[in-house]
This record gives sequence, structure tokens and C-alpha cells, in this order.
Amino acid sequence: MLNQIRIVMVNTTHSGNIGAAARAMKNMGLSRLYLVDPIAAVDEEAIQRSSRAEDILDNVVITATLEEAIADCGLVVGTSARSRSIPWPLMSPRQCADRAAQAAAADNEIAVVFGRESRGLTNEELHLCHAHVHIPTDEAFSSLNVAQAIQVLCYELRLASLPAENDSADEARWGVDWDYPMATHEQLNGMLQHMEKTLVEIGFLDPNTPKQLMSRMRRLFQRAAPDRMEINILRGMLVAVERTAERAHQKKGEED
Ligand code: SAH
Repeated sequence: MLNQIRIVMVNTTHSGNIGAAARAMKNMGLSRLYLVDPIAAVDEEAIQRSSRAEDILDNVVITATLEEAIADCGLVVGTSARSRSIPWPLMSPRQCADRAAQAAAADNEIAVVFGRESRGLTNEELHLCHAHVHIPTDEAFSSLNVAQAIQVLCYELRLASLPAENDSADEARWGVDWDYPMATHEQLNGMLQHMEKTLVEIGFLDPNTPKQLMSRMRRLFQRAAPDRMEINILRGMLVAVERTAERAHQKKGEED
């Protein structure tokens, strides 16, 4: 399970935090660290703070965007010190670890995403996540150091990975063996872009005043966690809608 989980740090400013994150991960048996457009370098301070978790730093994956870091993931969770934007599915670290164990048992790649030291994750970044995780800190002082937040999540993930602690990991997500794997972020994104294009074409979505429609559609589909076959079916439906709209359009042109 743990080798299917990547820890993703977005725009990290302090190299010490990258090192401390590597140490927190290695202590708990995780090894895959992704840095999205890091401001800090993996330098001497990072190595020192990693305290012999250098192998994790050596194998760090750097990406330009969050989308790239999560493209092949079937489950993406974003951590946040406070609740923001439109309501989004919210889990505790323990629920998150259970969900990750189920997703891992069903052969998915999993990403747990952490934000900037200064201002966390943006709403746009949080919307790319299936669910959000909040560590239930004191409301008056809710924000942890990012590496310490990583430590808390990695600890829960470790607990969920231990056989004695975990009855659900070998059960598939819905209590039975599922026939298709969950859609990856990239596949869901492709369907949502297709849907947006179709909704504009049929006049349901006004591109000049999109409001929150596509964010709400994204939230709906991420909550439903469609599998790859279901995404293919939805795309097939969209193609049929487009064709019908096109034919109606042509017919109207002939009549005019
Ligand atoms: N001042 C920022 C907090 C940044 S803390 C804000 O208000 O959003 C840096 C990162 O640590 C966060 O983006 C999140 O990934 C993690 N983090 C800190 N406290 C957390 C908490 N209570 N629950 C979940 N994640 C937390």
C-alpha cells in the first residue's frame, strides 16, 4: 500500500521543510516525494534535516504543475488547515488513510497534497482533489508546519497499512471485487473538458458567465469516484449529444 502513495508538496519555500518531510516519510515507510514547482532547492539544509532519509531526496520527482504530479492517480486528497470555497468532501486523517488503503487494494495510485508554508493550497488546487483532509487542530491555532502535517498523515497511512490494524485494505472499495479500476485524474479531467465543451455547444453553459458549474460537476464526479468504463460511457453519451445537436443545427440551417 505505502509504495502506491506519493506525498506532493506544492511551491515549498524552505528547504528544511523538504528534508523534514523526507524524514517523516521514511520513518513511516513511505518513499515517494513529489515537488511541484519548488521555490526551495534540495540543498545541504534539506539533507541535514532529512537525517539519513537522503535516498528519498535523491529520488524526488519535480513537476511544473500539480496536474502533472497527480495525472495518473485514482485518488487525490488535499490537506488544508481551514475550510474554504464551496463545501467539498472532508475527511479526518484516519478516514483518509482508510480510503487510501481501499484505493491501494484496488490497484490505484494515490496522492496526498500539501500546500505552501505561507498560504496553503489555492481553491483551484483544492478543487482538483477528490476530498480534503483536515487535521483537527485547535481552532484558535489551526495551522501546522507543513512537515509536521506530513508526519501526521504518514503516521495514519502507516497504521492503516499494518495488517493487524486494517481489515478493510484487502476489500475492494465497494465491498466486492470491482471489475474496472477507478478513473485517473487525467481521465476524469478529459471527460469534464469534453462535458464543458458539449454544454457550451448546446447552449446550457454560457462561457462568459460560467459561475461554479464546472467546479460543481467536478465535485459531483469526484464524489462518485467513477471507474474507467463509466468515464468511457459518459464520453460516448457526450458524443451522441454533440452529434444530435449538430444535426438539429444543420436541419435548422436547411429550413431557414
Ligand atoms: N497559512 C496557511 C497554512 C499553511 S500550512 C493557510 O492558512 O492555509 C502549510 C500546509 O501544511 C498546508 O497547506 C497543509 O498542507 C498542511 N497543514 C497545516 N495545518 C494543517 C491542518 N490542520 N490540517 C491539514 N493540513 C494542514
